[in-house]
Amino acid sequence: MYNSTFNRYIEFLKDDTKSKILNIYPDEIIINNTFQEGNSQKVYVNRFERDKKAREACLKHFGYNCQICNFNFKDVYGNIGTNSIHVHHIVPLAKVAQAYKVNPIKDLIPVCPNCHLILHKKDAPSIEELQQHFKHKAPDKLLVTHKNS
Ligand SMILES: [Zn+2]
Ligand SMILES: [Zn+2]
Repeated sequence: MYNSTFNRYIEFLKDDTKSKILNIYPDEIIINNTFQEGNSQKVYVNRFERDKKAREACLKHFGYNCQICNFNFKDVYGNIGTNSIHVHHIVPLAKVAQAYKVNPIKDLIPVCPNCHLILHKKDAPSIEELQQHFKHKAPDKLLVTHKNS
């Protein structure tokens, strides 16, 4: 797990442009690739999001639902989704003092990979702004239907 993540980071350093690197925190690593129309979309996390104790304390407080869209892996995927969620660090690293100690409840938040991707966009909306997208939304019908043969 660690090795493949690290290898992807090395690949990223090799083939990416300087401007892309400037858009991420200095200590962030790639945790996820999704593909949209042939372009790789990467999600980055920083060291606080990888800190095991901080993550555990955050999840003990909030649980495993995405705090933006309420997605729950276990509800959707069953047992294999147990304990699956990303943890996002709310405080931008640029504003973090050197002696900064992460507060797992104030500074970290459980989010699903989709919401996490958006939170790491350049000029990303705030958590509150993102939550607004789900306030009045009825679930859309899937365009792809699965037929039982
Ligand atoms: Zn979400
Ligand atoms: Zn994050």
